[in-house]
Amino acid sequence: MNLYKSKVYIFNLRFFALLMLNFLLGLTCIHAQNKIVQRSPDQKLSLELEIKEGKPTYQITYNNKVFMGKSPLGLITSVGDFTRGLKLKSHQVKPIKERYNLSHSKVSNVNYNANELSCWLVNSKDDAIQIIFRITNRDVAFSYHLPKRKNGGTDATIELEATGFHLPNGSTAFISPQAPAGSGWENTKPSYEEAYTIEEPINTKSKYGLGYTYPALFHLGNLGWMMISETGVDQNYVGTRLSDSKDGLYKVSFPQSGENKGVGANTVTAKLPFQTSWKTITLGTNLSAIVESTAATDVVKPLSAQTKIFNPGRATWSWIVWQDASCNYDDQVTFIDLAATLNCEYILIDALWDTQIGRDKMAELVKYASKKNVGVLLWYNSNGSWNSAPQTPKNLMNTAESRQNEMAWLQKIGVKGMKVDFFGGDKQVTMKLYHDILMDAAKFGLSVNFHGTTLPRGWERMYPAFATSESVMASENLVFEQSFADRYAQTATIYPFTRNAVASMDFGPVFLNDRLNRDPKKGTIRKTTDAFEIATGVLFFSAIQHWGITPENLKEKPSFLFDFLKVVPTVWDETKLIDGYPGKFCILARRKGVKWYIAAINGENTAKKVKVTFPMLAGQNAIIISDGIGKDAKLDTKKFDQNTMFEFDLAPNGGTVIYMK
Ligand code: CA
Repeated sequence: MNLYKSKVYIFNLRFFALLMLNFLLGLTCIHAQNKIVQRSPDQKLSLELEIKEGKPTYQITYNNKVFMGKSPLGLITSVGDFTRGLKLKSHQVKPIKERYNLSHSKVSNVNYNANELSCWLVNSKDDAIQIIFRITNRDVAFSYHLPKRKNGGTDATIELEATGFHLPNGSTAFISPQAPAGSGWENTKPSYEEAYTIEEPINTKSKYGLGYTYPALFHLGNLGWMMISETGVDQNYVGTRLSDSKDGLYKVSFPQSGENKGVGANTVTAKLPFQTSWKTITLGTNLSAIVESTAATDVVKPLSAQTKIFNPGRATWSWIVWQDASCNYDDQVTFIDLAATLNCEYILIDALWDTQIGRDKMAELVKYASKKNVGVLLWYNSNGSWNSAPQTPKNLMNTAESRQNEMAWLQKIGVKGMKVDFFGGDKQVTMKLYHDILMDAAKFGLSVNFHGTTLPRGWERMYPAFATSESVMASENLVFEQSFADRYAQTATIYPFTRNAVASMDFGPVFLNDRLNRDPKKGTIRKTTDAFEIATGVLFFSAIQHWGITPENLKEKPSFLFDFLKVVPTVWDETKLIDGYPGKFCILARRKGVKWYIAAINGENTAKKVKVTFPMLAGQNAIIISDGIGKDAKLDTKKFDQNTMFEFDLAPNGGTVIYMK
């Protein structure tokens, strides 16, 4: 007994001595080793990483004010717990200067200038993890990297991300709730088709208690604005989302296990070495930083050797107002002719073409369109068994063999691209399906437009075939629901600051019918002015833009509206926020070549005057489409000399477009 006791005693003494030694060594370098501060190239934005009691946190200040409070970092994985017991082993800083081009985005040439801080941490078992931060003058992006292991497995499973975002007290949110798995029409949700909150205090319970989707915009009171999003998700990750917030802290969470009808894990499994998605935090004292940020593309790399698959452009689209019955041969001829009249590059032929037109007649239709210089885009159901959406064609996109056979046929008959609808959620297995479709489409020279879908995360740069995605309450809701049509003007002023700030958005804008139905006596009533509608053709960015125009509009409305639609580009060299506030109004300027296109919309039900200077218009002859009497638009021209002041006179739910001759 005595012997035993003395052994324990000796062990404890050794342990104590070791502890003391560690403590003394630690004391001398505790600041140097456990806290790192790294600033942006302009020094205004500052990131502080701290390891306290083994737990890593980060904090972000801007102009020395805390924008992001101390927030947790870390992963729990099958190759180690990297949320606690961590020590900082080493770190490195290097400047990153990169110029890159985007062929189908809101900006064409990006001058990326960041400081990269990379930190190696080890846990108590000496397992290593690297956290990589990229700090620009307006963004912090970060990602976790798990190295190859000397001994042991080649795979890792990520069980949990401990990453969080701690918002300052009093912040408010423009943010859309995460929908329950299998909810919605024919179990097609979640599909990023929920209404945004408007200036909702943080810590409010989310609509379904399941947190929120990206991007999430926060108003930090007098401090400014911040947007949180995710990028760089390919087949190796899930689409994450934000939890509800508690005491201002939002945490990253993984998909619900019920997504994809319960099939597939909601965790991540991938080969080592392995890098997670990037979380991006964009901030500034005003909203320009948010609208003009390129964080979604800055930190990702092209995954295909091809650089260009498709020509961006505009499309006519019968389905949106004329619905399912119009996906027949004759109506599509009508819309091909409409596309030719409007100088549209494309026609989108929506669901049910396989039964209502048929494959042989489709080949004929594609030939007819091609004679008119119109490319055909065809709709597909993504199924699979993950929802009950009955529309056909289906079961052609979910397996490699059927998909590639179908794409070979599309290529053979001269189809230019696909719209693929009704996906199963954000699990890794679904992310792999997106990846596979995009990679295959590139091989067959087809563009891809996803609907009923996740947020595209950096895909404009990663995948040359990626054209656009819905991932928003889009124009179909104007047709389906009067309540959406009633609040549309307000909703439209939120999208440029949220969803459309991070990626191409296939809203399907520009409606000139008074009622959104083939029968003019039926359907939802449009509440916006004609000038508002025309302005959304610039305000909303989508590399392929599907107009809500119908043939009778050409007879009923003045030709100057169509003169604009005939020339407006769909991808841009530059995008600038001129003024605006989500939910109230938005004025954007976009440049293509030497020409600027300026769009203003009023999201409120009261008239609004806004005075703005446009230095870019100095010496230019401009065409102005603005609100006239009632819903009608009027046309003016104006020569801007050195005085580039302009006063917008916006009707309730109205708008204005200014563009160069
Ligand atoms: Ca949809």
